[in-house]
Amino acid sequence: MSAVSTQNNGQGHAAAGTNGGSQTIKSYAPATGELIGEVPVMSKEQVAQVVSRARKAQRAWAVLPIEERCDRLLRFRDAIVDRAEEIVQLLSKETGKPRHEALIHEVMPIADLLTYYCKNAPRILAPREIELHLFKHRKSYLHYAPRGVIGVISPWNFPFTLPMGDVIAALVTGSAVVVKPSEVTPLIMLKAKEIFDATGLPEDLLGVVTGYGPAGQALIESGIQKLVFTGGVETGRRVAAACGAALIPCVMELGGKAPLIACSDCDLELTAHSIVLGGFANAGQVCVSVERVYAHESVYEPLIRRVKQLVGELKQGDPAKSFVDQGAIIFPKQIEVAEKHIADALGKGAELVCGGKRVAGTGDFFEPTVLANCNHEMTVMKEEIFGPVLGVQKVASDEEAVRLANDSHLGLNAYLFTKDRAKGKRMAEQIEAGSVVVNEVLINHAIAEAPFGGIKQSGFGRIHGEDALREMAETRHVNYDRFAMPGSNPVGYPYTEKSYGLMMKGLRALFSGRGIVQRIGQLF
Ligand code: NDP
Repeated sequence: MSAVSTQNNGQGHAAAGTNGGSQTIKSYAPATGELIGEVPVMSKEQVAQVVSRARKAQRAWAVLPIEERCDRLLRFRDAIVDRAEEIVQLLSKETGKPRHEALIHEVMPIADLLTYYCKNAPRILAPREIELHLFKHRKSYLHYAPRGVIGVISPWNFPFTLPMGDVIAALVTGSAVVVKPSEVTPLIMLKAKEIFDATGLPEDLLGVVTGYGPAGQALIESGIQKLVFTGGVETGRRVAAACGAALIPCVMELGGKAPLIACSDCDLELTAHSIVLGGFANAGQVCVSVERVYAHESVYEPLIRRVKQLVGELKQGDPAKSFVDQGAIIFPKQIEVAEKHIADALGKGAELVCGGKRVAGTGDFFEPTVLANCNHEMTVMKEEIFGPVLGVQKVASDEEAVRLANDSHLGLNAYLFTKDRAKGKRMAEQIEAGSVVVNEVLINHAIAEAPFGGIKQSGFGRIHGEDALREMAETRHVNYDRFAMPGSNPVGYPYTEKSYGLMMKGLRALFSGRGIVQRIGQLF
């Protein structure tokens, strides 16, 4: 057992401690068990103070022209790029992920999202006229006002890119933002704040509150105007209920169980490489990981053979010591979850293609595991694992693959591989998921223009893209007169028998058959 497990009783790689009488969280590197930092467990009052300071800073931020806000945020982007090595080192250490993944999956998408939003936000958030089909004597437009303070609660698997994406969107719209990072990976968000403050941006505009679940609860109850939550389904249920009680809107980015369909005409080499990357990047601890594969019977055997070969070539180890493909698992509990699913599958007739056990020695490592001959009686095909384990099931047709892909309570991402793009798009539209990607894996979260989020129990609301940026702001409607109107309103007081009769005639003239309203576009 690793030093980490010994210190935290198997609960996680963050452990409680005290510092001068106050409670603290200690953060350990999962690859080595090394203690890398300590943060306070903030009380409800301390959380409220951070939110209150953010609210004050927001007032001055909100009145800046959007172009100026964007210019200043681009300086933050430049600082992130300048200090990328420092961020990557800490990310890799605190999560145990390979440095390539810290760079490509975390730092780069944030540099890109900042660039995209800062370039496009003035256009996206510009007031928009609404074409009125009936009230032609009036005009309407929407404008996008800052909400105030946005709360962000985020998980441990991408502790930089996930919260920072929401931070950027909130700041661009003129809000302040307070982040509650996972107790397991609190240090990286504090590093982001240090870089933010060093660029001369208003210090309290970005707040970070540290602690356990109650700190997240305190954030929800602190008077924030919106919450973006990313985490598991069960926590999401409690958090959504708390947002309901506080009557604040929320975005729920919850778990996934992404299927990958390998059609009979797929490019075998591309599909095999994609299964391995999609299944084992970040040791499978990705909400959009490939967790289940449905392979057409004509490609099933060769695909499994090639996947086994590719998995055999993966190098695993401490990412701080050398460039590895597979890093550590965040904490021992995740390993136990993987073991439970593997035992269930093997007990029900699955075949172990490779992997299947934890790696002996220091740190929390687990072998990338592929199970063949799987079916939907096994939890490996039905429940989120969030680890380096994937199940493969043989199917006889595209229809069967789509039916099985949809046989899930989750619907975040899905993948399918075929050389026939028209068929790929047709099938993609039949799959119940927020995003379906054809002939590629994982990429969609990094597409700044595309909305990201789930359906079913994978959550609701979206991040990224134009609509999500507008949603981060408060959409307000203004309606005004196009020309001067007579003092008395023809549909107002007094309500007489005569005016009622006129209204009834008006209803028929406007709406029956091809009434005036249907033809109104041609009239004006
Ligand atoms: P959890 O749901 O356990 O925790 C998420 C966050 O919620 C943490 O910061 C946690 O704090 C906090 N929290 C816990 N209890 C409460 C509470 N009562 N009120 C407010 N906040 C609370 O998720 P994990 O950190 O384990 O992350 C893994 C999950 O996240 C997986 O299911 C994965 O699929 C999902 N995920 C979804 C993504 C998406 O975009 N849809 C992306 C990435 C991950 P603490 O850690 O201190 O307990």
